[in-house]
Amino acid sequence: MAKRKSKRKAPTARKAIEPLDVQFNCPFCNHEKSCEVKMDRNRNIGKIVCRICSEDFQTTINYLSEAIDVYSEWIDACETVNS
Ligand SMILES: [Zn+2]
Repeated sequence: MAKRKSKRKAPTARKAIEPLDVQFNCPFCNHEKSCEVKMDRNRNIGKIVCRICSEDFQTTINYLSEAIDVYSEWIDACETVNS
C-alpha cells in the first residue's frame, strides 16, 4: 500500500487579473452593455453614461468602489425616482 503523503494541496493559482466588466445594460433604453462606467479615483467620482440614450449618473465612490457599485447605485436611484 502506498504511503499516503501528507502533502498539502497547492494553492489554486490565482486567475490573471481580468479587466473588470465596466459595461452594463441600460435601465432606460434597455440596450445591453451600452452603459460605461468611468471611475475617477482622484476625485472620488464614479460616472456612468449610456452611449445609446445618453442617460448618465454620477456618484461618489471610495477606494473600495467598483464599476458595478456605481451601476447598482444608478439602478437604485432610478427605482427611487420611479416609485
Ligand atoms: Zn440607455
